[in-house]
Amino acid sequence: MKASGTMRGAVSELKEFERQAEAEKRQIAAVRENGVGLLTPELLERYSDKTNLPAQELVLAYGRLGGTVSFTPEQLHQMYLARKRREEKFNNRIYGVKIASLLRASRPADKERAKEVRNATLYQRKGNLLFFRVSGREQPFYRVQIRLENWQEALYTATPAMRAVREVLQGRVSIECPCGRHQYWYRYLATIGKYAIDPLEHDFPKIRNPKLTGCCCKHVLRAIRELGSNRVLLVLARQMDAERKKPGFKSVERKQMFNQSDLNILISRRLHRDAMAALRKYKAAADAMEKKQTPRRSSAVLQGIDPKVVQAVGDIARLYRQLNMDSGEAIRGIADKYKLNAAQIDAILKEDRA
Ligand SMILES: [Zn+2]
Repeated sequence: MKASGTMRGAVSELKEFERQAEAEKRQIAAVRENGVGLLTPELLERYSDKTNLPAQELVLAYGRLGGTVSFTPEQLHQMYLARKRREEKFNNRIYGVKIASLLRASRPADKERAKEVRNATLYQRKGNLLFFRVSGREQPFYRVQIRLENWQEALYTATPAMRAVREVLQGRVSIECPCGRHQYWYRYLATIGKYAIDPLEHDFPKIRNPKLTGCCCKHVLRAIRELGSNRVLLVLARQMDAERKKPGFKSVERKQMFNQSDLNILISRRLHRDAMAALRKYKAAADAMEKKQTPRRSSAVLQGIDPKVVQAVGDIARLYRQLNMDSGEAIRGIADKYKLNAAQIDAILKEDRA
């Protein structure tokens, strides 16, 4: 069949991309090991005290062709201050920063460029670490990583998966992109702000970004946009449901590409529309429950129960069935909250299937 053939092709493409991204990571690390002329934390620390600055200019190697670049003590002191300000701006005792803060701190120029980035696909997960394949210009794709710092704690709650994931996405995240913009401008900021993912960068970006402004490259911004999409929300909710069912809550710490059915949602346009429709229903059910809208008739065993609750339970059960997700958790949550007993839940589900 053509559709499944296309999907198989997409999966092997993604596998090949992942192999390349790993090779590229090793290569960048090797080049970085041999870095020259680095403005290390220790070096910068010598310029912390304005009243006691070293007298001489600092001359550092620039590039690998024998060039040099020099800085006055006052320039270095300004860089030291820029680092201090940046450290204070982000709470650096906790890992990750909220997406809203990342967006606020990003430069308008990067946001503009992000609009031209064609595609970002979430394809793989390692515990709380998500991998995106993002279109690039210098090379076809970059592997952007986003770590959801609140994923683990959300796993242990009884909050229905869909809502739990939505909360996780509003929580703190850390970021990484292998592109030059991130490497030379922003990785140092991410490291001192404690929202970097390996590799970290401890040496000051003295040439490109001495004032330490900006935050995300266009690839990270594009991945963040995808992270906010309904299809990602759905797949992550399915992942969370599956992970919660594992004995002893063992989390998937191995790197794992999503299975066919999740990749279908993440890649296919048609299924994306289906997922959107399912999600709209879910939202409607949740809204109905909260706003207590139009009731519908109920059977005898359900007398005395708020009809909107009855409807919400039915809607959620149906949605989870459509998505092949276990609705147990979600329904138990509602049952607890609204004090429904097992017979009442059964009646609702029976009525709903009828
Ligand atoms: Zn990038």
